[in-house]
Amino acid sequence: MNVFVVNCGSSSLKYQLIDSDTEEVIAKGLCERIGIDGSLTHKPTGKDNLVKKCDMPDHKSAVSYVLDALTDPVYGVIGDLSEIDAVGHRIVHGGERFANSVVINDEVIRAIEECNDLAPLHNPANLIGISACQALMPDVPMVAVFDTAFHQTMPKKAYLYGLPYEYYDEYKVRKYGFHGTSHSFVSKRLIELIGKEGQDSKVIVCHLGNGSSISAVRNGESVDTSMGFTPLDGLIMGTRSGSIDPAVVQFLCGKLNRSVDEVLTILNKQSGVEGISGVSSDFRDLEKASNEGNERATTALEIFTYRVAQYIGSYAASMNGVDAIAFTAGIGENNGKIRKAICDYLGYLGITIDDEANQTAGEEIRISAADSKVDVYVIPTNEELAIARETVALL
Ligand code: AMP
Repeated sequence: MNVFVVNCGSSSLKYQLIDSDTEEVIAKGLCERIGIDGSLTHKPTGKDNLVKKCDMPDHKSAVSYVLDALTDPVYGVIGDLSEIDAVGHRIVHGGERFANSVVINDEVIRAIEECNDLAPLHNPANLIGISACQALMPDVPMVAVFDTAFHQTMPKKAYLYGLPYEYYDEYKVRKYGFHGTSHSFVSKRLIELIGKEGQDSKVIVCHLGNGSSISAVRNGESVDTSMGFTPLDGLIMGTRSGSIDPAVVQFLCGKLNRSVDEVLTILNKQSGVEGISGVSSDFRDLEKASNEGNERATTALEIFTYRVAQYIGSYAASMNGVDAIAFTAGIGENNGKIRKAICDYLGYLGITIDDEANQTAGEEIRISAADSKVDVYVIPTNEELAIARETVALL
């Protein structure tokens, strides 16, 4: 079965065409600057890439360019559109309504629209992606896979904020958590690797990329996670501040003579390790700068690893123990120095690292030493494959 996996942003569309039988990527790519000018980067497996500027006024035209590329005589990978059997859509926010993936119908679309308030930048774009695909592939079944769904198993004590209860009742203000597809995919694999499927298990997944979050997973279910009402909460990230005292917002509004919206944009886009270092949001640039003696870059890296270690400690406490920890996403999969710096805080859990194994980048590997009391693994995440699997499972 060929599954077309779509991840729509406000001005971008990422896609993969996956053969679900072999789980191989047949083609993948990206449309950027939709509604501005438009470009397509199409990467068919085993063929030359296609990169072109296109007139892309909206997402429907972007999907149309992608479908043309997939069926192109030179760059294409399928004969015609009938070879696309299903579409899996990544949807950022499913609110409390969606604890699982669902087959898309009119009622589901209305329910996703009702969550727009909770993710005003993302959900409308995701919905546009759905309608663009429906317009061009009206008979192909489609599935919605939610970033928040995996964390719907969190207990109330983990997801409620210390606010008047009516704000939860009336406006659904609570912790939702994000990166759920990744946390679900990686925690399942981790539980498999430690041979604890179907048994009592306590694992922690560190998804460390440009956006970063950590989850505590008990018996395969998310019981806590570091992102909150929005993906701004929790860890220090590439450009996001992570958790701060909310009173800072008011203070900065006064000092900078800016609106709340403007200060939130600063917290989202100009903060995190980029804001601290003044160098970059990319950890490769930060390490280079730090090695060259840039103190703020060194500080940014230290704050990042310190905060990750704090979360691991707090989740080990919440679950009264931890069997295994996984690192995933761009930094988690590739940056052994950061992994080591985090694990250096965790000696009290009996964690010891195999320095040679920890040199490995981008591969599934156990990086804890034989005598470590907690297993530590690197597990590459694959959100697109997870979406394709969910899509096939539902159809
Ligand atoms: P992501 O958002 O998951 O793509 O992760 C982006 C982050 O991962 C950036 O800070 C990169 O520096 C880091 N990263 C990605 N690939 C590598 C790599 N091959 N080596 C070291 N760091 C990497």
